[in-house]
Amino acid sequence: MGRRTRRRWVFKPPNNAYFTGTHPQMENCIVLTLAEFEAMRLKHYSKLTQERAADSMGISQPTFSRILEISHQKITQALIEGKEIRVHGGNIDYKLSFIGYGCWNCDHIWEDRSASRGKKVKCVKCDSENVYYFEREII
Ligand SMILES: [Zn+2]
Repeated sequence: MGRRTRRRWVFKPPNNAYFTGTHPQMENCIVLTLAEFEAMRLKHYSKLTQERAADSMGISQPTFSRILEISHQKITQALIEGKEIRVHGGNIDYKLSFIGYGCWNCDHIWEDRSASRGKKVKCVKCDSENVYYFEREII
């Protein structure tokens, strides 16, 4: 039995399960875990410091650093060997972002998973139409 890995927090799954148009053959693809994907996203896309990125994933900085290093090696290998990159699996939980509305009139904030910027809504508390769309990433 291997050592149990600590659970890592991931904000959301990648938009594309595969970064290729075709279904990859396992021998011709590099599998990036969601934790590795998330480490790359936080560090190189969201430009967080390593400290904040590690915090966000609920892991120590050395662990974050190791995950990032592995993901760099995998991406490099995929580029050099012309392999497909697949993002899959790992011991992770998703963090949900908040999506909903806020009311300028009474300051009430409520969640609505189907909320969108263009939609006309009224405040569920005071019935005011002076409402704004509100979205927050938990990082
Ligand atoms: Zn209101």
